[in-house]
Amino acid sequence: MFADSHCHLNYKGLVEGQQDVLARARARGVHAMLNIATRESEWDAVIATAERESDVWATVGIHPHEADQHPDIGTARLVERAQHPRVVGIGESGLDYFYDHSDRDRQRASFRAHIAAARETQLPLVVHTRDAEDDTAEIMREEMGKGAYPAVIHCFTASGAFADIALEIGCYISISGIVTFKNAKDLQETAARLPLDRLLIETDAPFLAPVPHRGKTGEPAFVADTAAFLAQLRGEALETLAAATAENFHALFTKTRL
Ligand SMILES: [Zn+2]
Ligand SMILES: [Zn+2]
Repeated sequence: MFADSHCHLNYKGLVEGQQDVLARARARGVHAMLNIATRESEWDAVIATAERESDVWATVGIHPHEADQHPDIGTARLVERAQHPRVVGIGESGLDYFYDHSDRDRQRASFRAHIAAARETQLPLVVHTRDAEDDTAEIMREEMGKGAYPAVIHCFTASGAFADIALEIGCYISISGIVTFKNAKDLQETAARLPLDRLLIETDAPFLAPVPHRGKTGEPAFVADTAAFLAQLRGEALETLAAATAENFHALFTKTRL
């Protein structure tokens, strides 16, 4: 049984055939999927899928790419929507200095608003960070000092040093299909040494289809391929890795246990 801690079931590429996508995931043993929001206009649809499907849960949040489009996003609006029984996390939010699709000050302000919502609700923050690990670490650490909040670094691609900081401040780390890519040696080294009790797996579908599906539209079923690769990389039985990452998923996203 696998838990896909991060997918976008309402994105183009998956939404058109969503029932088939879900059926293929279930057929490969995926028993839990977290449907991640990236802009306010999609919150209703993301939540509606989670209302309809007992093995799908939702988050509410604004992707750093979308920060410019949501200048007035505040903690209160996130907290309000997070009361919904199928909303189990806040995000994805964070910093993306690789694409810089939004102004960096806006990204940082939005990130802090999301952190405050995670602290207030005690629902995990789903963190997106790319080419921004210094600012991400500094903000997360500083905000931890104001009051703890649960968090996961999603689609981890940062340095080993950043992984150590994330673990030290209590974060979980989620590994995507990128780990299966040939040129991902540094990530493979880090993924091999992460503590099993802080590890999650994800697809980030429809993006990042793992080997042997590269070039195809990613879908939650493929989390099984990433899990198999990761288990071999870490020298663990697939069942061990699958059980631990599923257990971690439900331990972190506590509302999925209700
Ligand atoms: Zn992301
Ligand atoms: Zn995502």
